[in-house]
Amino acid sequence: MAAPKVAVIGAGVIGLSTALCIVETCPGCSVTVLADQFSPNTTSDVAAGILIPHTYPGTPIHVQKQWFKETFTYLFAISNSAEASEAGIHLISGWQVFKNTPKEELPFWSDVVLGFRLMSEAELQKFPQHRFGQAFTTLKCDCPPYLLWLQKRLKATGVQMYTRKVADLWELHSEYNIVVNCAGIGAHQLVGDEKLFPVRGQVLKVHAPWVKNFIRDGDGSTYIYPGVHKVTLGGTREQESWSLSPDPGTTKDIFDRCCSLEPSLHRAQDITVRVGLRPSRQSVRLQREVLSQGGDKLSVVHNYGHGAGGFSMHRGTAKEAARLVGDCIAALQDSSSRAKL
Ligand code: FAD
Repeated sequence: MAAPKVAVIGAGVIGLSTALCIVETCPGCSVTVLADQFSPNTTSDVAAGILIPHTYPGTPIHVQKQWFKETFTYLFAISNSAEASEAGIHLISGWQVFKNTPKEELPFWSDVVLGFRLMSEAELQKFPQHRFGQAFTTLKCDCPPYLLWLQKRLKATGVQMYTRKVADLWELHSEYNIVVNCAGIGAHQLVGDEKLFPVRGQVLKVHAPWVKNFIRDGDGSTYIYPGVHKVTLGGTREQESWSLSPDPGTTKDIFDRCCSLEPSLHRAQDITVRVGLRPSRQSVRLQREVLSQGGDKLSVVHNYGHGAGGFSMHRGTAKEAARLVGDCIAALQDSSSRAKL
Protein backbone atom coordinates (compact mmCIF):
# COMPACT_ATOMS: atom_id res chain seq x y z
CA MET A 1 0.00 0.00 0.00
CA ALA A 2 1.28 3.53 -0.84
CA ALA A 3 1.83 6.06 1.98
CA PRO A 4 -1.59 6.49 3.64
CA LYS A 5 -3.15 9.93 3.10
CA VAL A 6 -4.77 11.46 6.17
CA ALA A 7 -7.03 14.54 6.15
CA VAL A 8 -7.53 16.34 9.48
CA ILE A 9 -10.59 18.60 9.45
CA GLY A 10 -10.14 21.58 11.78
CA ALA A 11 -7.42 24.09 12.64
CA GLY A 12 -8.32 24.84 16.26
CA VAL A 13 -6.17 23.53 19.09
CA ILE A 14 -7.62 20.02 18.64
CA GLY A 15 -7.08 19.72 14.87
CA LEU A 16 -3.56 21.17 14.89
CA SER A 17 -2.36 19.15 17.89
CA THR A 18 -3.93 15.98 16.49
CA ALA A 19 -2.21 16.53 13.13
CA LEU A 20 1.11 16.98 14.96
CA CYS A 21 0.66 13.80 17.00
CA ILE A 22 -0.18 11.84 13.82
CA VAL A 23 3.01 13.11 12.15
CA GLU A 24 5.01 12.17 15.26
CA THR A 25 3.55 8.69 15.74
CA CYS A 26 2.67 7.50 12.22
CA PRO A 27 5.80 8.12 10.16
CA GLY A 28 5.33 7.57 6.45
CA CYS A 29 1.79 8.88 6.20
CA SER A 30 0.99 12.16 4.50
CA VAL A 31 -1.10 14.58 6.57
CA THR A 32 -3.21 17.50 5.31
CA VAL A 33 -5.18 19.97 7.46
CA LEU A 34 -8.44 21.28 5.97
CA ALA A 35 -10.40 24.02 7.74
CA ASP A 36 -12.82 26.75 6.82
CA GLN A 37 -11.24 28.99 9.50
CA PHE A 38 -7.67 29.27 10.76
CA SER A 39 -6.25 31.43 13.58
CA PRO A 40 -7.29 34.10 14.57
CA ASN A 41 -10.86 33.10 13.68
CA THR A 42 -11.41 29.85 15.61
CA THR A 43 -13.04 29.22 18.99
CA SER A 44 -9.58 28.26 20.21
CA ASP A 45 -8.43 31.85 19.58
CA VAL A 46 -11.09 33.18 21.97
CA ALA A 47 -10.20 30.86 24.87
CA ALA A 48 -8.30 31.98 27.92
CA GLY A 49 -6.17 28.84 27.50
CA ILE A 50 -5.58 28.09 31.18
CA LEU A 51 -4.96 24.48 32.24
CA ILE A 52 -7.71 23.90 34.80
CA PRO A 53 -9.82 20.88 33.82
CA HIS A 54 -13.60 20.80 33.63
CA THR A 55 -15.18 17.44 34.31
CA TYR A 56 -16.83 15.50 31.45
CA PRO A 57 -19.65 13.54 33.16
CA GLY A 58 -19.55 10.76 30.54
CA THR A 59 -15.80 10.04 30.70
CA PRO A 60 -14.13 8.04 33.52
CA ILE A 61 -12.08 10.29 35.81
CA HIS A 62 -8.89 8.23 35.39
CA VAL A 63 -9.07 8.82 31.62
CA GLN A 64 -9.58 12.57 32.10
CA LYS A 65 -6.69 12.64 34.53
CA GLN A 66 -4.45 10.86 32.00
CA TRP A 67 -5.38 13.37 29.24
CA PHE A 68 -4.71 16.28 31.58
CA LYS A 69 -1.41 14.86 32.80
CA GLU A 70 -0.15 14.29 29.25
CA THR A 71 -1.14 17.84 28.29
CA PHE A 72 0.45 19.35 31.39
CA THR A 73 3.69 17.41 30.93
CA TYR A 74 3.92 18.42 27.25
CA LEU A 75 3.32 22.13 27.88
CA PHE A 76 5.51 22.17 30.99
CA ALA A 77 8.42 20.98 28.84
CA ILE A 78 7.71 23.75 26.31
CA SER A 79 7.54 26.33 29.13
CA ASN A 80 11.03 25.19 30.19
CA SER A 81 12.49 25.49 26.70
CA ALA A 82 13.71 28.27 24.45
CA GLU A 83 10.41 27.91 22.53
CA ALA A 84 8.30 29.17 25.47
CA SER A 85 7.84 32.80 24.41
CA GLU A 86 7.12 32.03 20.74
CA ALA A 87 4.70 29.25 21.71
CA GLY A 88 3.02 31.56 24.25
CA ILE A 89 3.25 29.05 27.10
CA HIS A 90 3.96 30.15 30.66
CA LEU A 91 3.54 29.05 34.25
CA ILE A 92 1.06 31.01 36.30
CA SER A 93 0.17 30.94 40.00
CA GLY A 94 -3.07 31.97 41.60
CA TRP A 95 -6.18 31.09 43.49
CA GLN A 96 -9.49 29.32 43.02
CA VAL A 97 -11.88 30.69 45.65
CA PHE A 98 -15.26 29.47 46.90
CA LYS A 99 -18.08 31.17 48.79
CA ASN A 100 -18.76 27.82 50.52
CA THR A 101 -16.51 24.81 51.05
CA PRO A 102 -16.94 22.56 47.98
CA LYS A 103 -17.91 18.87 48.30
CA GLU A 104 -14.59 17.92 46.74
CA GLU A 105 -11.81 19.77 48.53
CA LEU A 106 -9.14 18.02 46.42
CA PRO A 107 -10.04 17.93 42.70
CA PHE A 108 -8.80 14.96 40.64
CA TRP A 109 -6.11 17.12 39.04
CA SER A 110 -4.67 18.46 42.31
CA ASP A 111 -1.53 16.30 42.10
CA VAL A 112 -0.88 17.17 38.44
CA VAL A 113 -0.66 20.97 38.83
CA LEU A 114 2.25 22.28 40.90
CA GLY A 115 2.21 23.06 44.61
CA PHE A 116 -1.53 22.54 45.17
CA ARG A 117 -2.57 23.50 48.70
CA LEU A 118 -5.50 24.98 50.56
CA MET A 119 -5.32 28.73 51.10
CA SER A 120 -4.48 30.11 54.51
CA GLU A 121 -6.79 32.43 56.47
CA ALA A 122 -4.36 35.28 55.77
CA GLU A 123 -4.56 34.70 51.99
CA LEU A 124 -8.35 34.48 52.10
CA GLN A 125 -8.45 38.02 53.50
CA LYS A 126 -7.90 39.18 49.91
CA PHE A 127 -11.34 37.72 49.07
CA PRO A 128 -13.76 38.89 51.79
CA GLN A 129 -16.79 37.25 50.08
CA HIS A 130 -15.12 33.81 49.97
CA ARG A 131 -14.55 31.33 52.75
CA PHE A 132 -12.45 28.59 51.13
CA GLY A 133 -9.73 28.55 48.52
CA GLN A 134 -7.08 26.53 46.70
CA ALA A 135 -3.69 27.92 45.67
CA PHE A 136 -1.63 26.33 42.90
CA THR A 137 0.60 26.90 39.89
CA THR A 138 -0.57 25.79 36.48
CA LEU A 139 0.18 26.57 32.81
CA LYS A 140 -1.45 29.02 30.45
CA CYS A 141 -1.40 29.15 26.66
CA ASP A 142 -1.61 32.50 24.92
CA CYS A 143 -3.95 30.99 22.38
CA PRO A 144 -3.26 32.70 19.02
CA PRO A 145 0.55 32.42 19.44
CA TYR A 146 0.22 28.75 20.44
CA LEU A 147 -1.94 27.99 17.38
CA LEU A 148 0.58 29.74 15.11
CA TRP A 149 3.42 27.80 16.75
CA LEU A 150 1.59 24.52 16.10
CA GLN A 151 1.03 25.55 12.45
CA LYS A 152 4.72 26.40 12.08
CA ARG A 153 5.73 22.99 13.41
CA LEU A 154 3.30 21.27 11.06
CA LYS A 155 4.60 23.19 8.03
CA ALA A 156 8.18 22.28 9.02
CA THR A 157 7.24 18.58 8.82
CA GLY A 158 5.67 18.99 5.37
CA VAL A 159 2.00 19.06 6.42
CA GLN A 160 -0.15 20.94 3.89
CA MET A 161 -2.90 23.27 5.12
CA TYR A 162 -5.82 24.42 2.99
CA THR A 163 -8.82 26.65 3.59
CA ARG A 164 -11.78 24.48 2.68
CA LYS A 165 -15.24 23.89 4.09
CA VAL A 166 -16.12 20.20 4.14
CA ALA A 167 -19.86 19.67 3.69
CA ASP A 168 -19.78 15.86 3.90
CA LEU A 169 -17.00 13.47 5.00
CA TRP A 170 -17.60 11.41 1.85
CA GLU A 171 -16.38 14.26 -0.38
CA LEU A 172 -12.85 13.40 0.85
CA HIS A 173 -13.13 9.71 -0.03
CA SER A 174 -11.40 9.85 -3.41
CA GLU A 175 -8.47 11.93 -2.09
CA TYR A 176 -7.74 10.50 1.37
CA ASN A 177 -7.56 7.07 3.07
CA ILE A 178 -8.41 8.34 6.56
CA VAL A 179 -10.39 11.38 7.71
CA VAL A 180 -9.91 12.81 11.23
CA ASN A 181 -12.82 14.93 12.40
CA CYS A 182 -11.66 17.76 14.70
CA ALA A 183 -14.36 20.22 13.64
CA GLY A 184 -15.32 21.42 17.14
CA ILE A 185 -18.85 22.80 17.18
CA GLY A 186 -18.83 22.41 13.36
CA ALA A 187 -19.30 18.66 13.92
CA HIS A 188 -22.93 19.38 14.83
CA GLN A 189 -23.64 20.03 11.16
CA LEU A 190 -20.82 18.00 9.59
CA VAL A 191 -21.79 14.65 11.13
CA GLY A 192 -25.23 15.58 12.51
CA ASP A 193 -24.22 15.00 16.14
CA GLU A 194 -27.28 15.97 18.18
CA LYS A 195 -25.39 15.27 21.43
CA LEU A 196 -23.08 18.19 20.66
CA PHE A 197 -24.30 21.62 21.75
CA PRO A 198 -22.81 25.12 22.04
CA VAL A 199 -22.06 26.74 25.38
CA ARG A 200 -21.57 30.39 24.47
CA GLY A 201 -18.77 32.20 26.24
CA GLN A 202 -18.11 35.94 26.22
CA VAL A 203 -14.78 37.28 27.50
CA LEU A 204 -12.99 40.62 27.73
CA LYS A 205 -9.31 41.02 26.91
CA VAL A 206 -7.87 43.99 28.81
CA HIS A 207 -4.57 45.74 29.38
CA ALA A 208 -3.76 45.42 33.11
CA PRO A 209 -0.09 44.38 33.33
CA TRP A 210 0.01 44.74 37.11
CA VAL A 211 -2.29 41.70 37.54
CA LYS A 212 0.09 38.75 37.86
CA ASN A 213 -1.98 35.99 39.52
CA PHE A 214 -4.99 34.13 38.20
CA ILE A 215 -8.22 34.32 40.21
CA ARG A 216 -11.10 31.95 39.52
CA ASP A 217 -14.41 31.80 41.34
CA GLY A 218 -14.89 28.11 42.12
CA ASP A 219 -18.24 27.95 40.32
CA GLY A 220 -16.41 28.90 37.10
CA SER A 221 -18.62 31.93 36.43
CA THR A 222 -16.02 34.63 37.02
CA TYR A 223 -12.31 34.47 36.23
CA ILE A 224 -9.25 36.65 35.74
CA TYR A 225 -6.42 35.02 33.76
CA PRO A 226 -3.32 37.13 33.05
CA GLY A 227 -1.52 36.28 29.80
CA VAL A 228 1.69 37.55 28.21
CA HIS A 229 0.12 40.76 26.83
CA LYS A 230 -3.52 40.82 27.94
CA VAL A 231 -5.61 39.71 30.90
CA THR A 232 -8.70 37.64 30.04
CA LEU A 233 -11.80 38.47 32.11
CA GLY A 234 -14.75 36.14 32.06
CA GLY A 235 -17.19 34.92 31.66
CA THR A 236 -20.48 33.39 30.63
CA ARG A 237 -21.79 29.87 30.02
CA GLU A 238 -24.94 30.03 27.91
CA GLN A 239 -26.12 26.60 26.82
CA GLU A 240 -27.60 26.22 23.34
CA SER A 241 -26.90 29.85 22.38
CA TRP A 242 -25.39 30.10 18.87
CA SER A 243 -24.95 33.89 18.92
CA LEU A 244 -21.44 35.16 18.19
CA SER A 245 -22.40 38.80 18.77
CA PRO A 246 -21.02 40.43 21.94
CA ASP A 247 -23.70 41.60 24.34
CA PRO A 248 -22.94 45.04 25.91
CA GLY A 249 -24.94 44.26 29.08
CA THR A 250 -22.90 41.07 29.55
CA THR A 251 -19.65 43.01 29.02
CA LYS A 252 -20.56 45.34 31.90
CA ASP A 253 -21.64 42.44 34.09
CA ILE A 254 -18.35 40.55 33.50
CA PHE A 255 -16.31 43.68 34.20
CA ASP A 256 -18.20 44.40 37.45
CA ARG A 257 -17.87 40.79 38.66
CA CYS A 258 -14.12 40.77 37.94
CA CYS A 259 -13.63 44.15 39.66
CA SER A 260 -15.34 42.82 42.76
CA LEU A 261 -12.75 39.98 42.86
CA GLU A 262 -9.80 42.23 41.90
CA PRO A 263 -10.66 45.93 42.47
CA SER A 264 -7.49 47.18 40.72
CA LEU A 265 -9.10 46.14 37.41
CA HIS A 266 -11.15 49.36 37.55
CA ARG A 267 -8.05 50.93 35.94
CA ALA A 268 -7.84 48.34 33.11
CA GLN A 269 -7.59 49.79 29.58
CA ASP A 270 -8.02 48.78 25.93
CA ILE A 271 -11.00 46.48 26.49
CA THR A 272 -11.86 44.19 23.58
CA VAL A 273 -14.73 41.69 23.64
CA ARG A 274 -14.70 38.18 22.13
CA VAL A 275 -17.31 35.45 21.92
CA GLY A 276 -16.82 31.73 21.29
CA LEU A 277 -18.96 28.59 21.24
CA ARG A 278 -17.61 25.79 23.43
CA PRO A 279 -18.19 22.48 21.60
CA SER A 280 -19.89 20.68 24.47
CA ARG A 281 -20.91 17.06 25.01
CA GLN A 282 -21.29 14.69 27.95
CA SER A 283 -17.98 13.20 26.83
CA VAL A 284 -15.38 13.98 24.17
CA ARG A 285 -16.10 11.92 21.06
CA LEU A 286 -12.80 10.10 20.62
CA GLN A 287 -13.69 7.17 18.46
CA ARG A 288 -12.86 5.21 15.33
CA GLU A 289 -15.64 4.59 12.81
CA VAL A 290 -15.78 2.92 9.39
CA LEU A 291 -18.42 4.51 7.15
CA SER A 292 -19.91 2.47 4.30
CA GLN A 293 -21.67 3.71 1.19
CA GLY A 294 -22.48 1.29 -1.62
CA GLY A 295 -19.37 -0.91 -1.73
CA ASP A 296 -17.05 1.87 -0.52
CA LYS A 297 -15.61 2.28 2.95
CA LEU A 298 -14.13 5.36 4.64
CA SER A 299 -12.04 5.19 7.82
CA VAL A 300 -12.83 8.05 10.20
CA VAL A 301 -11.43 9.06 13.59
CA HIS A 302 -13.49 11.56 15.60
CA ASN A 303 -11.87 13.91 18.13
CA TYR A 304 -14.28 16.68 19.09
CA GLY A 305 -16.57 17.87 21.88
CA HIS A 306 -13.97 19.23 24.33
CA GLY A 307 -16.40 21.85 25.76
CA ALA A 308 -14.77 24.16 28.29
CA GLY A 309 -11.54 22.16 28.47
CA GLY A 310 -9.99 21.92 25.02
CA PHE A 311 -6.67 23.48 26.02
CA SER A 312 -6.50 21.54 29.28
CA MET A 313 -6.89 18.19 27.53
CA HIS A 314 -5.69 18.71 23.94
CA ARG A 315 -2.39 16.82 23.94
CA GLY A 316 -3.84 13.79 25.74
CA THR A 317 -6.77 13.46 23.35
CA ALA A 318 -4.54 14.16 20.33
CA LYS A 319 -2.26 11.28 21.34
CA GLU A 320 -5.24 8.94 21.63
CA ALA A 321 -6.62 10.09 18.25
CA ALA A 322 -3.20 9.47 16.66
CA ARG A 323 -3.20 5.95 18.14
CA LEU A 324 -6.61 5.35 16.54
CA VAL A 325 -5.25 6.61 13.20
CA GLY A 326 -2.43 4.07 13.62
CA ASP A 327 -5.09 1.35 14.07
CA CYS A 328 -6.84 2.51 10.87
CA ILE A 329 -3.55 2.36 8.94
CA ALA A 330 -2.86 -1.17 10.22
CA ALA A 331 -6.38 -2.27 9.20
CA LEU A 332 -6.02 -0.72 5.72
CA GLN A 333 -2.61 -2.36 5.22
CA ASP A 334 -4.04 -5.68 6.35
CA SER A 335 -6.96 -5.55 3.91
CA SER A 336 -4.70 -4.36 1.08
CA SER A 337 -2.27 -7.29 1.59
CA ARG A 338 -5.19 -9.77 1.81
CA ALA A 339 -6.60 -8.38 -1.46
CA LYS A 340 -3.27 -9.21 -3.16
CA LEU A 341 -3.40 -12.88 -2.10
P1 FAD B 1 -12.29 25.13 17.27
O1 FAD B 1 -11.24 25.97 17.86
O2 FAD B 1 -13.65 25.72 17.09
O3 FAD B 1 -11.79 24.60 15.88
C1 FAD B 1 -12.65 23.92 14.99
C2 FAD B 1 -12.02 23.95 13.61
O4 FAD B 1 -12.82 23.17 12.72
C3 FAD B 1 -11.95 25.36 13.00
O5 FAD B 1 -10.77 25.49 12.26
C4 FAD B 1 -13.16 25.35 12.07
O6 FAD B 1 -13.03 26.28 11.00
C5 FAD B 1 -13.10 23.92 11.55
N1 FAD B 1 -14.34 23.42 10.97
C6 FAD B 1 -15.53 23.25 11.58
N2 FAD B 1 -16.43 22.72 10.72
C7 FAD B 1 -15.78 22.56 9.53
C8 FAD B 1 -16.16 22.08 8.24
N3 FAD B 1 -17.40 21.64 8.00
N4 FAD B 1 -15.22 22.07 7.26
C9 FAD B 1 -13.96 22.52 7.48
N5 FAD B 1 -13.55 23.00 8.68
C10 FAD B 1 -14.44 23.01 9.70
N6 FAD B 1 -10.44 25.66 27.39
C11 FAD B 1 -9.45 25.48 28.30
O7 FAD B 1 -8.91 24.37 28.42
N7 FAD B 1 -9.01 26.51 29.08
C12 FAD B 1 -9.58 27.75 29.01
O8 FAD B 1 -9.16 28.67 29.74
C13 FAD B 1 -10.67 27.95 28.11
N8 FAD B 1 -11.30 29.15 28.05
C14 FAD B 1 -12.35 29.32 27.17
C15 FAD B 1 -13.00 30.55 27.14
C16 FAD B 1 -14.05 30.75 26.24
C17 FAD B 1 -14.77 32.06 26.23
C18 FAD B 1 -14.41 29.72 25.35
C19 FAD B 1 -15.48 29.95 24.33
C20 FAD B 1 -13.76 28.49 25.39
C21 FAD B 1 -12.75 28.27 26.32
N9 FAD B 1 -12.10 27.04 26.41
C22 FAD B 1 -11.07 26.86 27.30
C23 FAD B 1 -12.55 25.89 25.60
C24 FAD B 1 -11.72 25.77 24.33
O9 FAD B 1 -11.70 27.00 23.67
C25 FAD B 1 -12.33 24.71 23.41
O10 FAD B 1 -12.51 23.49 24.11
C26 FAD B 1 -11.40 24.46 22.22
O11 FAD B 1 -11.05 25.68 21.62
C27 FAD B 1 -12.04 23.53 21.21
O12 FAD B 1 -11.12 23.41 20.17
P2 FAD B 1 -11.49 22.76 18.78
O13 FAD B 1 -10.23 22.71 17.99
O14 FAD B 1 -12.26 21.52 19.00
O15 FAD B 1 -12.53 23.79 18.12
